Amino acid sequence: MSNLNKKEIIILGGGISGLATAWYLHKAGISFKLIEKEEETGGVISSQKAKETVFDFGPNSLRDHDGFIRELAEEAGLKDDIIQISEAFKTRFIVRNRELQRLTPSVKTLATTEVLSVKAKVRMLAEPFIPKGETEDESVGAFLERRIGKEAVEYLVDPVFSGIYAGDIFKMSKYEILPKLAETENKFGSLVMGMFRSKREKSEIKPMILTFKKGIQQLTNAVTEKLSAHILNEEVINLKKIRSGFEVKTDAGTHQASTVITCLPAYTLCSIMSEFNPELSQTLGKIDYAPMLSTQVIFNKKDIEFPESGFGFLVPRKENIRLLGAIWKSSIFPELTSEGKLHYTLMAGGAHDRSILSSPVEKIEEAIVQEFSELMGISANPTVIKSKLWTKAIPQFQVGYGRIRNEITKSEQENQGLYVGGNYRWGVSVPDCVKGAKELVNDVLL
Ligand SMILES: Cc1cc2nc3c(=O)[nH]c(=O)nc-3n(C[C@H](O)[C@H](O)[C@H](O)COP(=O)(O)OP(=O)(O)OC[C@H]3O[C@@H](n4cnc5c(N)ncnc54)[C@H](O)[C@@H]3O)c2cc1C
Repeated sequence: MSNLNKKEIIILGGGISGLATAWYLHKAGISFKLIEKEEETGGVISSQKAKETVFDFGPNSLRDHDGFIRELAEEAGLKDDIIQISEAFKTRFIVRNRELQRLTPSVKTLATTEVLSVKAKVRMLAEPFIPKGETEDESVGAFLERRIGKEAVEYLVDPVFSGIYAGDIFKMSKYEILPKLAETENKFGSLVMGMFRSKREKSEIKPMILTFKKGIQQLTNAVTEKLSAHILNEEVINLKKIRSGFEVKTDAGTHQASTVITCLPAYTLCSIMSEFNPELSQTLGKIDYAPMLSTQVIFNKKDIEFPESGFGFLVPRKENIRLLGAIWKSSIFPELTSEGKLHYTLMAGGAHDRSILSSPVEKIEEAIVQEFSELMGISANPTVIKSKLWTKAIPQFQVGYGRIRNEITKSEQENQGLYVGGNYRWGVSVPDCVKGAKELVNDVLL
């Protein structure tokens, strides 16, 4: 049994949210312990190397808008291990009628692309003349269908959000997922008019999409190595309030601290605090998580005639294809694939396809590899297929999520010293989690 100083801070969970929080406390010279149940830290960040090819079963690339990822990586000693995405990332494809249609982000491409019919393009152009909607929350699907039309939502919006959030756009909250667009409509009555009239925020930092030489987990491993003296390998079973702060019960003993920062998934926090805070526990239990299957496939380059380079493709649900999309890993990060090979990451599951949880993984692999090969015109078999099933991959920010946020904030106010972090609080991307951790530590230090 270990007893910590009452003034000590305890962080629960060693995914990127918990590790980044730990790092910023460490930088500020504050004492803490981090409790992680798995032997390996990183949570859903999971990289493996096999024969000079790096597999990322969780996040594949990090979109570092504000520079916090680069800063954290440099501080963790990874300055020379950062790999910037190749120019190929600018070309993306959307599947329509079982064919890949090119889509680069330009007005010209939007005008000429076969992803949308002429009628859909005309409907999109009518956006400035569509009356403003109500200000209360609604789904991303309903909001954008109203503004840009049904077909554009089916073929542009749906695949993008299925890809990023594994979500159902007719359940996801516009205020959570597209806060700036929702505000633009409220303020200017139209998204197009708003784009012309609102001032662009200028940033000194140049955004970068990146990974690391050994994959994304190199970042969490490097931070873990620097903080190893503060990390306990235990499973948290219960969290309760005591007179002097909090008591954390684990499978190895109990720990006390005046401040507890939880970066556990919502469903875990829900179960460990059901006695101490049944209201918040109930609220957290309402947060839905979508499952995802990440399948890595490797082909011999010589077996494939596919000439294109690009980020990959996304599949609208309308196409009735199980595959959600594919990232062309060897195209965007050629450094991470062995010579003579092509590497792709296939995604399946999400809020639309929870049946991946009840089918054998090999069956789904077989189905999606076949769909992928058909779409790419590949007749050769992959030389490697490797999958990881995330049963609760990504939290879903559904319509009315604002009420969940309010409950969490209320609970923090009623329980001085309790801080709730993690992707369901800060946003799902890794950069969102790092930014959230930085801001939380600033709050703790106030
Ligand atoms: C397949 C997939 C692809 C993704 N792609 C991208 C991408 O390309 N780019 C991007 O930016 N983001 C991506 N994301 C999202 C991003 O990776 C996650 O949102 C983020 O890593 C979550 O970090 P977290 O620390 O909040 O949670 P988690 O990673 O879930 O960490 C929670 C930690 O808590 C620990 N824990 C749980 N229960 C206990 C307990 N009882 N006691 C102690 N410890 C416990 C877990 O073991 C885990 O380490 C992807 C996610 C997935 C699943």
